[in-house]
Amino acid sequence: MTSIPKESDVVIIGGGIIGVSTAYYLAKSGVSVTLVEKGIIAGEQSSRNWGFVRQQGRDPAEIPTIMRSLALWKGLSKELGEDIGFKQAGVFYLANTEEQVAGYEDWLKHAKEYQIDSHIVPKTEIQKYIPTNSGGWLAALRTPSDGKAEPSKATTALARGADNLGANILTNCAVLGFETEAGRVSSVRTELGAIKTNTLLCAGGTWSSLFCGRHNIPLPQLKIQSSVLRTSPVPEISKHSIWCRDVALRRRQDGGYTVAHGSATEAPIVPDTFKWGIKYLESYKKEKSRLRIKLNGRFYKELMTARRWNIDGPSPFESERIYDVSPNKKILNEAFNNLRNLFPQLENATIIESWAGLIDVTPDAVPVISPVEKIPGFYLATGFSGHGFGIGPGAGELAAHMITGKASKQELSNFDYSRFF
Ligand SMILES: Cc1cc2nc3c(=O)[nH]c(=O)nc-3n(C[C@H](O)[C@H](O)[C@H](O)COP(=O)(O)OP(=O)(O)OC[C@H]3O[C@@H](n4cnc5c(N)ncnc54)[C@H](O)[C@@H]3O)c2cc1C
Repeated sequence: MTSIPKESDVVIIGGGIIGVSTAYYLAKSGVSVTLVEKGIIAGEQSSRNWGFVRQQGRDPAEIPTIMRSLALWKGLSKELGEDIGFKQAGVFYLANTEEQVAGYEDWLKHAKEYQIDSHIVPKTEIQKYIPTNSGGWLAALRTPSDGKAEPSKATTALARGADNLGANILTNCAVLGFETEAGRVSSVRTELGAIKTNTLLCAGGTWSSLFCGRHNIPLPQLKIQSSVLRTSPVPEISKHSIWCRDVALRRRQDGGYTVAHGSATEAPIVPDTFKWGIKYLESYKKEKSRLRIKLNGRFYKELMTARRWNIDGPSPFESERIYDVSPNKKILNEAFNNLRNLFPQLENATIIESWAGLIDVTPDAVPVISPVEKIPGFYLATGFSGHGFGIGPGAGELAAHMITGKASKQELSNFDYSRFF
């Protein structure tokens, strides 16, 4: 659709898995909803991710929502009438150190509390699940009920599902800001014109903090970058999606693997690093062995990005319809070599395509699904911190319930915006 409605009960910013899932569940409950995407559906994180749909290793704050999400994933292909590549093929985390094994054992207390089928696989049994490998791993954490899906297919199918239920899905249209009346959201300004509404949800992924900043709503959010490749069709080495220190891989529907380095994520230093850095110290201490901190052209680019703009535009959102960052070839070469060394059956794999994605991260790596109390009618569903694809349908349903008043305080309490301040 290229023309915008004059009014809508709810407007959603962002056509990633979170925005489209929320639109889908709102439309399903009869709410008139308009989703506005500056580029294309699933142009950013939601098509670039690994495709793991995992419960294991999650922060306990997210467990009820990921469990609900998994239940939704199971029925989605049928409900949407489209193949989205969802399978409960299991997830396997392999440990190189005793410290990792202890971490996995510790996480099992959460699995037990929620009756998730996660368990430790001892060293002697790893071969049962990955018959040919040279990993020498000490043990593994395995969750047979965890799943996987094809990211781009799933996100675009959900958008079509929302559209079929009557949602307005606008692409190539940036949201520039919103206006208020008596303190409450009263209209949303897009580059194609205004939409009268009293409810706006920001599901803008990595752009959410910039958007919120325009309205004096502080949102701590930093970006990290992850590079990914896909291989040619190769023999299946395990039905599970696998993560270890040296490589992460998921079997794709096309018979290849989606592959990334298991512990090389780039953290570009940008002006926001200085603004929010102090809030990230605890997470940084935990994750520093996996982060490669870099000062590159992004610092200057973000320094030059307008933080304030006129509501009539132009805004920074029209000038970058899709965040298309270049993959780090060095990291990908390391990952690809690790892949072939660890799994000799994949020695003939070739690289078909590579890409990178920017990931939005909150200080505690838990998302925000929350009203913003000081502006009635303004809501957030953002900050999914590198694991928002799997939880997407569950988080979208929760965001829809938050907006329609069906979500309990208890369900939303772990995702509250005010926890950062
Ligand atoms: C390489 C990589 C690997 C990952 N692996 C996994 C994984 O295996 N499992 C997992 O669960 N998660 C994974 N993730 C994380 C997951 O992809 C994200 O958490 C999830 O996709 C976030 O969805 P989103 O809808 O919040 O954001 P996005 O998908 O980024 O969508 C946000 C959208 O908002 C739009 N937008 C922003 N501002 C505006 C505006 N003002 N006007 C209009 N539109 C706007 C953007 O154009 C964008 O399309 C990975 C991410 C990456 C990058």
